[in-house]
Amino acid sequence: MVDVEVKEQLIETIRRWIQREVLPRASQLEHADEYPEAWVEQMKEFGLFGAKIPVEYGGFGLDTLTYARLIEELAYGWMTLSGVVNTHTIVANLISTYGSEEQKATWLPRLALGEPRAAFSLSEPDSGSDTRSLRCRAERDGDSYIISGTKTWVTNGERAGLVALAARTPEGVTCFLVEKEPGPRSGGITVSKRIDKLGYKGIETVEMSYEDHRVSADAVLGGPKGLGVGLNYILASLELGRINVASRAVGVARAALDAAFSYAEERETFGVPIIKHQAIAFKIADMATKVEASRLLVRSAAEKYDRGERADVEAGMAKLFASETALEVATEAMRIHGGYGYTRDFPVERYFRDAPLMIIGEGTNEIQKIVITRGLQSRRHSS
Ligand SMILES: Cc1cc2nc3c(=O)[nH]c(=O)nc-3n(C[C@H](O)[C@H](O)[C@H](O)COP(=O)(O)OP(=O)(O)OC[C@H]3O[C@@H](n4cnc5c(N)ncnc54)[C@H](O)[C@@H]3O)c2cc1C
Repeated sequence: MVDVEVKEQLIETIRRWIQREVLPRASQLEHADEYPEAWVEQMKEFGLFGAKIPVEYGGFGLDTLTYARLIEELAYGWMTLSGVVNTHTIVANLISTYGSEEQKATWLPRLALGEPRAAFSLSEPDSGSDTRSLRCRAERDGDSYIISGTKTWVTNGERAGLVALAARTPEGVTCFLVEKEPGPRSGGITVSKRIDKLGYKGIETVEMSYEDHRVSADAVLGGPKGLGVGLNYILASLELGRINVASRAVGVARAALDAAFSYAEERETFGVPIIKHQAIAFKIADMATKVEASRLLVRSAAEKYDRGERADVEAGMAKLFASETALEVATEAMRIHGGYGYTRDFPVERYFRDAPLMIIGEGTNEIQKIVITRGLQSRRHSS
């Protein structure tokens, strides 16, 4: 276990790095849709790719609350940086929770170093919320499986060297650990489309086609016992993904709030700074209260997750509330900036374009509401 002082130091290091290096240039890279190569290298050096990987496999073995605070700091600077870490951490978590001893020994020490980086591939063009309708297939052929199908929305997919892929086998949905070369083509895998997004720029989100791509039977996550239960593994691991998305939302919302606060103290109309107008002061109060409430929901979910308890409801609530807050706070920050908020001269337009991703990613907020109510019902009836 990492001691408190080391954790606080790590968070402070990231906070200072974000202020010094990232904030001054984030909008420039974002507008150019440029991958933040140098910053990703720096994140490797900080050890962020091993944040949740157990110490015995070379990671930091951080608790989820500390991880959530780190993600908040990254997203405060640029939401994309937290996205580079997210799919990687979901995959590392899948392996450390469900992987065979051999899979853990093979992958975790390398993932802790951030080389290779990992992508997570569940969604398909006709299967998003309805995960059970996925069509990608893996057919057994001797000691191998042959994978065919199209996956989409694969964030980090092109640069990844490892993809946790959900595919249908005769037993049900199985999760495969697919090793690949980073780049547009590897064996039977092709990046068939780069998706042009509203925000969340700099990081690639791609469609990937699998044409008779052969993987060893050892690639089944968890070994033979993982056959047909991959979707259970994946859906359970999304709890951590949802805590990540909620933390990102807190980071973006806090950045928007800070920008709005500074602007409201500086900008004068009718002879006073606009923060003196009650309409603006009330907006700031509401925004700050919701950001604080979001952070507390993230804390509650992270602590429950760390206690090893089922945190589906809490992670869903944190993700739902924090992402709706991020969208609202980003919009209000833009309004507080008046016409200037609608320009590229201020970062609020970036927050406004980044915020909606959080209401969709790791399950839309409509789906979160289903998860929350189902979870609450099952708790009511089991107690
Ligand atoms: C930028 C970006 C990055 C992503 N990265 C990844 C990634 O790395 N890996 C990955 O696997 N996926 C990724 N996704 C996919 C994401 O998880 C899906 O987009 C999301 O789950 C929604 O699926 P869909 O887009 O097919 O929408 P649909 O499922 O078609 O939903 C359309 C609308 O219907 C609503 N809806 C659907 N079903 C119900 C229901 N039962 N009740 C009420 N409302 C419902 C939805 O909430 C939504 O409003 C990413 C998405 C985006 C936008």
